[in-house]
Amino acid sequence: MSKSNAGEVALSRRSLLKVSGATLGAMSLGGCLGVLDDETDRDLDRLSDAEVAYGNCWMCHHACGQEVAVNDGTIVDITGVDGHPRSSAGPGREGTLCPKGLAEMEKAHDPDRITQPYIREDGELRQADWDEAFEYAATRLKALDEQYGAETFLNAASWATTNLHEIVWGNLYGTPERIGRGRHVCFGGAHLSGNLMGVGADMRFVDYQNADYIIAWGRNLFESFAGQWEPKGVLEALDNGAKLVVVDPQHTPTAQKADEWLPIEPRTDGALALAMGHVIVEENLYDEAFVEEWTYGFERYREEVADKTPEWASERTGLEPGVIRQIAVEFAEAAPAAGIALWTGVGQYAESQKASQAVFALNGLVGNIDRPGGLRFWRGPPFSNPFEVRDIDLPNNAAGKTPALRKYEEYEKYPFRHTTGIGHNQIPEMVENGHIRGMYCHYDNPLTDGNTQAWLEALEEMELIITVDAYWNELTRHADVVFPEAIQLEKDTLIDYAPAWSAYHENRWVSASKAAVEPQGNTKPGFDILKGIAEAMGWGEYIPWQSEAEYNEDMLANIDYSFEEVAQENFVILDEFGYEQWKDSGFSTATGKFQFYLDEEDGYRRSIEEVDEQVPDVDLHTGPQWVPPGTFGDTPDGEYPLHFYDTRAVFFAFGADQVLDHPREQYARKHGLASEEYEGNYLVMNTADADERGIETGDMVTVATEKGDGEVMAYVSERTPPGFVTAEFGFGQGNSKEDGMNTMIVHDGQTDPISSQVDRHIAAEVRKTGGD
Ligand code: SF4
Repeated sequence: MSKSNAGEVALSRRSLLKVSGATLGAMSLGGCLGVLDDETDRDLDRLSDAEVAYGNCWMCHHACGQEVAVNDGTIVDITGVDGHPRSSAGPGREGTLCPKGLAEMEKAHDPDRITQPYIREDGELRQADWDEAFEYAATRLKALDEQYGAETFLNAASWATTNLHEIVWGNLYGTPERIGRGRHVCFGGAHLSGNLMGVGADMRFVDYQNADYIIAWGRNLFESFAGQWEPKGVLEALDNGAKLVVVDPQHTPTAQKADEWLPIEPRTDGALALAMGHVIVEENLYDEAFVEEWTYGFERYREEVADKTPEWASERTGLEPGVIRQIAVEFAEAAPAAGIALWTGVGQYAESQKASQAVFALNGLVGNIDRPGGLRFWRGPPFSNPFEVRDIDLPNNAAGKTPALRKYEEYEKYPFRHTTGIGHNQIPEMVENGHIRGMYCHYDNPLTDGNTQAWLEALEEMELIITVDAYWNELTRHADVVFPEAIQLEKDTLIDYAPAWSAYHENRWVSASKAAVEPQGNTKPGFDILKGIAEAMGWGEYIPWQSEAEYNEDMLANIDYSFEEVAQENFVILDEFGYEQWKDSGFSTATGKFQFYLDEEDGYRRSIEEVDEQVPDVDLHTGPQWVPPGTFGDTPDGEYPLHFYDTRAVFFAFGADQVLDHPREQYARKHGLASEEYEGNYLVMNTADADERGIETGDMVTVATEKGDGEVMAYVSERTPPGFVTAEFGFGQGNSKEDGMNTMIVHDGQTDPISSQVDRHIAAEVRKTGGD
């Protein structure tokens, strides 16, 4: 609970000032127009009487430290924690929260939250008490297991605050079927490439403050970040004289702040990367010692890029050859203090695995890996396994069961089954085939992430859906059991489920917080929900901890701090880890080196061979190579001439926060529109495309693709180039806010065949609703 001390009044007043400044800072980073009215909304008396607690923001799960002012059980203020590894630029720097993080205050007391368990009876959801809901879930789970086998049940949990869902569903219930965000729907192509090449999925975050040269490749760092440390670190690097280059078709707020903006043609990142490699190799600017000793496949890479001149790339990317040459030389000369920040922009299209492989290759070439100013091998705290601490002999009932995608021949058409296994887009087909019959979903809504029409039909077919959620949406409405979860500010949390990157580039750290307020209504922390299910299933002996705090205490067995001590400080800096860690441990790859070529990775090689067999006119090999747009995913044509893809707004995370009033108002205000008239997302389109179709800002328009159509409000802007239309993720059918258009309702299920990443780029046409 909240702590109270003599410094509270001063702290709360300082907090108010910080929130105001931070909010305006975040809004300007978010490219917003207008001024927030939050300051005038705040009640100074309530603030001055408040107690102060800590939190770790879980709105986007990146755990920025929160200072929380609580008055009589109500959160009256919230801001960042100074010096926090995630909410600040580092030691002694001011901590802030982004608009999503600030909105958690509204979420805590939101009357629209689900605050009571529900179970399905006679086809209808009805309120239940907790014991009844646990017993009902257990009865249904046992029946499913007996009739079809536990392996037909899917664990679709994403960013829960502990890994307990993996234990309950994998080890105890015994299903090998799991989907999660990173590998399939977020940046799957880049995730797979980074891991197999040896830099890891975390290497997309740069040692910003030490960098002389930063390339934000398909990243809008000032609006879409993994904690406040990122934009703050980049701004600090710019103050220190670093150069920022942005590769992005759109003129984002990050492009506005960049020294150089490269408005690349969509999905041609691989061509730019190969041409940069060509220049670096031709001009002998690569790190010969690193390449010689620590890489695998360089000679073949040299041959591959030999004809990929800047002129060759210019025809594909639309960028001037001179600019390509210049960026390549500058990047190589600044290395190793040169980092490429890469995430969803090069991770979310059907050719993304190959494109990101070409981009990652540049890091091996210039040797910026785990060196100051380059990329980091981040290291998390040395947490203990609580099951080992308690000497619990945990079974692994999923071991030995073959996942359906590898078991049945109808899935042999999916080469990615050798690399990533089950994928988001294929679940509806597996439901239709009877290979998936039920699902546990926690902190996620698969209806937002691809193949939505098919997913909606699959929900009708599934025999058991168990959800842990805070809001009603099409998924929770289809559930058989709805468990209402307390939000992070209402529970004791140790941040072990967020990755290790932070503003402390050389330190391991640990962050924790106690509940700031009681859970709203009759909600419970996710830990308690999974423990309740486990006990009802007869597995109580395996989950002996009474609370998440007790479980956390055991996780800290190796660390010289108790959970209470860490939570009291909010974060503790542990030991230091050095640079060039590969010198001691090598790379986690089949060859122990950074790999340009992946032929020693068995699963990858098999996937490539199958793509070659199945896709005519494609001749893939295991190294970086040019794969033109349209090779796997669709591409604009006469009927559907526009690129349509979805974006993330700085105001919302994971599609649930659209129900909150403040973020929605801020989002509408950013577009100069009023949220009362329309509460959905906006289709951003260029003036030229809008004029051609007689469309103006505020018109309702229909987005049509081969799969179907959806309706959304238009916003005409020069920030998006001609030929492009974008809309924010998380609105429309299936979501908690059904106004606007679900961007994936017009998606036909296309996937990167090597990584299983959902292809979020769709060929589309747009017309004024009601027009021709
Ligand atoms: S980046 Fe924003 S939403 Fe994400 S954890 Fe930090 S404050 Fe919260």
